[in-house]
Amino acid sequence: MGVPAGDQRDFEFCRKYGIPVVPVVQPKDGTVLDGDTMTEAFTEHGIVANSGRFDGMTTEEAIPAMIEWGEENGYCKRTVTFRLRDWLISRQRYWGTPIPFVHCPQCGDVPVPEDQLPVRLPEDVTVKEVGHSPLLDLPDWLATTCPRCGGPAKREADTMDTFFCSSWYFDRYCSPGDAERPFERADVDYWMPVDQYIGGIEHACLHLIYARFFTKFLADIGLIRVREPFTNLLTQGMVIKDGAKMSKSLGNVVDPTEIVNRFGADTVRLFILFAAPPQNDLDWSEKGVEGSSRFLGRVWRCVEENLATLKAHRGRIVPMGELDEDALRDFKRKIHTTIRDVTCDIETEKQFNTAIARLMELTNSLTALKETGETADSLRAEAVEALLHCLSPFCPHIAEELWEMLGHQEVISTAPWPEADPAALVRDVATIVVQVNGKVRARLERPAGLSREELERSVVSDPAVQEKLAGKAVLKVIAVPDRLVNIVVKG
Ligand SMILES: [Zn+2]
Repeated sequence: MGVPAGDQRDFEFCRKYGIPVVPVVQPKDGTVLDGDTMTEAFTEHGIVANSGRFDGMTTEEAIPAMIEWGEENGYCKRTVTFRLRDWLISRQRYWGTPIPFVHCPQCGDVPVPEDQLPVRLPEDVTVKEVGHSPLLDLPDWLATTCPRCGGPAKREADTMDTFFCSSWYFDRYCSPGDAERPFERADVDYWMPVDQYIGGIEHACLHLIYARFFTKFLADIGLIRVREPFTNLLTQGMVIKDGAKMSKSLGNVVDPTEIVNRFGADTVRLFILFAAPPQNDLDWSEKGVEGSSRFLGRVWRCVEENLATLKAHRGRIVPMGELDEDALRDFKRKIHTTIRDVTCDIETEKQFNTAIARLMELTNSLTALKETGETADSLRAEAVEALLHCLSPFCPHIAEELWEMLGHQEVISTAPWPEADPAALVRDVATIVVQVNGKVRARLERPAGLSREELERSVVSDPAVQEKLAGKAVLKVIAVPDRLVNIVVKG
């Protein structure tokens, strides 16, 4: 295809190689697109243009008209293609949604009327290997009356493939209490699409295609607004042990209960999240579990052994500006870069392993801090609170316990998430002398260590400096990192 005015990739290609763009669809609102000045492809329905006999039709009218014309003139033949294969949804299983039909010797297959829905599964079933649905062995459940003629009839014993229900359950989750309908449109329109969907790679083909198909279908028949069910997908990796996928069929499964009993749930959670990013396969290792356990032991001792001091200094925040010693400034900076980076790892990157690594580093800095005195102890308390907060999504039990030991009344999981203090993030500050044509015009504070280019850009764009320049053309800028910027202007 080559339709640059209606396809963004074609458009970019033509712009790059100087190929003319001819609009063949104009917007319905009367705007006239010019191929030379368009800034992006127009991809909506509209009015056909530059297309001979089809000019003036809406695209909705023109598509069938073009196919017809092509068929009449022997250019083409209409066909419908689906990527989705036919899907037989009936299963000979007990666990599944009953297919709401009855079979009547007089009337044939009759749908169960709405006022008799839902058809419920019987609960007195015995599941054994018989080669057919266990429901066929329950004559009392099978026997019913035909909703059409009232004569004796039989229920359908097949149930639906579980994929059928997993294709739209997220809509139901939006209206869990609705007894009349599958879901309420207002609820689904409010909550859907799912912001972050998480699943194994085995779901990637069937479940996601079915879920998208159902969503588009439900939108087509006007029951919901969204056309895509999931905004983001995270495909989690598998658990590998001794080089093989951990699975029941291979018999190499580690019993989580046993590990949890030995190490505690927090250790197991921490190990799993620390061993690999969630989308990668995870190598199960006993050594790794022990390492996580040791780290949590250190965190525990950090709090327990200093409890009195930490409680006495809790909530006393010393601002960066009041810290003179380099070691304390570095430590304060470490606390706040940790908060900033862990927040980003969790919220944006979903890189829980790097978040945990940062918490291990912060714990190292905390135990390595030698300084004594009120200020140092206040910083220690600040660090411990930040550490527990950032640790709490991964190890909620230990974090809550230590949080309470520190004297908090509110649980950590509902306490406000800590915010990185911008002043504490700045790597030491340098005072930059700003000259205009050799005369000192301003002194600005800038983070130390900026490159020549960064410093130049930051200083020249500063409103105070712009004011001094008074719109005069800048001829040259001389920047000396951490010290000076001299701006040479015309006149
Ligand atoms: Zn009947």
